[in-house]
Amino acid sequence: MIRNLRWTLFVVLTTACTGASPQSADLVIRHVTVVDVLDGSLHQDQTLFVESGRLTAVLPSPRTSIPAGARVVDGAGQFAVPGLWDAHVHSAASKRAWDFPLLVAHGITSVRNMHADGDALEEVRSIKHGLASGEFVGPRYLANGPLVDGYPPVHRGSVVVRTASEARAAVDSLADGGADFIKVYDSLTLESYHAILDQARRRGIAVDGHMPFAVSPTEAARAGQRTVEHLTGIALGCSSDIDAIRSDYVLYNERMPQMDPDDGLMGWLDLIRRASDSLDSVACAAVVAAYAETGVAVVPTLTYMVRHADPQPILTDPTARRLVLAEAWDRWNLMAGSGAGEAMASVFATIHEQSLGHVRALHAAGVPILAGTDLGNEFIVAGRSLHDELAALVSAGLSPLEALQSATSAPARVFGLSDSLGTVTAGSIADLVLLEDNPLEDINNVRKITGVVLRGEYFDRPRLDSLVNQAVATEAPPN
Ligand SMILES: [Zn+2]
Repeated sequence: MIRNLRWTLFVVLTTACTGASPQSADLVIRHVTVVDVLDGSLHQDQTLFVESGRLTAVLPSPRTSIPAGARVVDGAGQFAVPGLWDAHVHSAASKRAWDFPLLVAHGITSVRNMHADGDALEEVRSIKHGLASGEFVGPRYLANGPLVDGYPPVHRGSVVVRTASEARAAVDSLADGGADFIKVYDSLTLESYHAILDQARRRGIAVDGHMPFAVSPTEAARAGQRTVEHLTGIALGCSSDIDAIRSDYVLYNERMPQMDPDDGLMGWLDLIRRASDSLDSVACAAVVAAYAETGVAVVPTLTYMVRHADPQPILTDPTARRLVLAEAWDRWNLMAGSGAGEAMASVFATIHEQSLGHVRALHAAGVPILAGTDLGNEFIVAGRSLHDELAALVSAGLSPLEALQSATSAPARVFGLSDSLGTVTAGSIADLVLLEDNPLEDINNVRKITGVVLRGEYFDRPRLDSLVNQAVATEAPPN
């Protein structure tokens, strides 16, 4: 933090005092329109100077000169926005080689990874090391390692805690192991949950994740959870039937280890459907007010719901097919045709309108909304689905500017990185996306990427295409 501040001061002072272009630069982008994502203003004909991974100056083009040796990119007619975040992905281990090039090719320069199986923290360390050493290209990687759940856990590879002291020990071991945050999950007891939040506060590490069934949204917000994933926790908090749903969840969870996976999924869907069927608008308003009061951010993952409600648009899209591993594609088709897939489609189609209403209410109350896709799950395509998520947020009532904020300035602020990320500002880390058309006029213009700057390194369109080809080449093409 202090180092960033010093660097910012150095840059601001040197450029402000001389009023001139920097003496040296690795990359200069000329004549570009800079989108200020904080207030929606457009700054035409700017020149961006990049050196050693930082944006060192942003100056009106007529007053600039180009340092010798800099690579020059003509940005005329294009729009520069900050690099995008996907705030909810599951991309580690074998998936990394496939996802990372695709994410960067779609302008995603930062991700928050939400759970990895196996020796998750060891994997996180190796990914961070590979990114830092340049062994492979990929987005900035915030990661928790394994999620923390109660017994029985929903996902394999979770850290399971049954008591407050186990919960505190789990926080300590994850914090010591280098986790960037703690992710809490569905089956935690209220006692374990509070112990996690308390221990995390002592250790100075944030807690993100699901809202456990045993915890009300208001309790979670007051306890200091930083982000809430998906809208299911809110649906539970809005339900007039919450006490019965909670006790049924306990029974369901006890039976789950013996259930076949499809039955397990059906049981969970039934609880979500019951919550949605018993929506109580007074309870809902109280949840929204508690969120707004405490500053908790919400990651709605709308695209996950939209795609599960109707997977056909993605399953018949040849571009999507090309960007998905054959093994996953086959699994998705099987799922779409299965009883469990149809049950999921029916529940998500039913709660769709209600979910958009939750996003609208949260947003209107000032709750930060973050764009995340749940990449790693069915029907979610690396990179492309983040663009879909921004469009989905607009369909929920956000303006294109507000949707863009949900993938730039808002995640940077929520994750404590706004001194170096989230805006196109001198002193920031040089993570940028160049677009052919103005994203504030139509959010779908985020799909029209002409170039990406990733920590100072420039990827023009042909190089972005070769990143896609590199991912696709990791397996044989389908017949
Ligand atoms: Zn997830």
